[in-house]
Amino acid sequence: MADPADGPSLGMECPACHEPWLRPSSLAGRYRCVSCLHRFELRSVCPHCGEHGTIVRMAGSENVACNVCGGSMLVEV
Ligand SMILES: [Zn+2]
Ligand SMILES: [Zn+2]
Repeated sequence: MADPADGPSLGMECPACHEPWLRPSSLAGRYRCVSCLHRFELRSVCPHCGEHGTIVRMAGSENVACNVCGGSMLVEV
């Protein structure tokens, strides 16, 4: 778990290119992939099942999965 190669240098997996380079942007709830440069927004309503997510946003949170269907709450913007 303490492997530096798998540490904070790697972000969330990008839904577009599936590279672990998704980084929070300066805007709250916005993310940008530094690999493919796509931008994503973290939605409060699941784009897959329509369920309202209870987003507990911790520091450096990677909790972007819907807790109902498990899908990503990120949508490309
Ligand atoms: Zn990407
Ligand atoms: Zn869902």
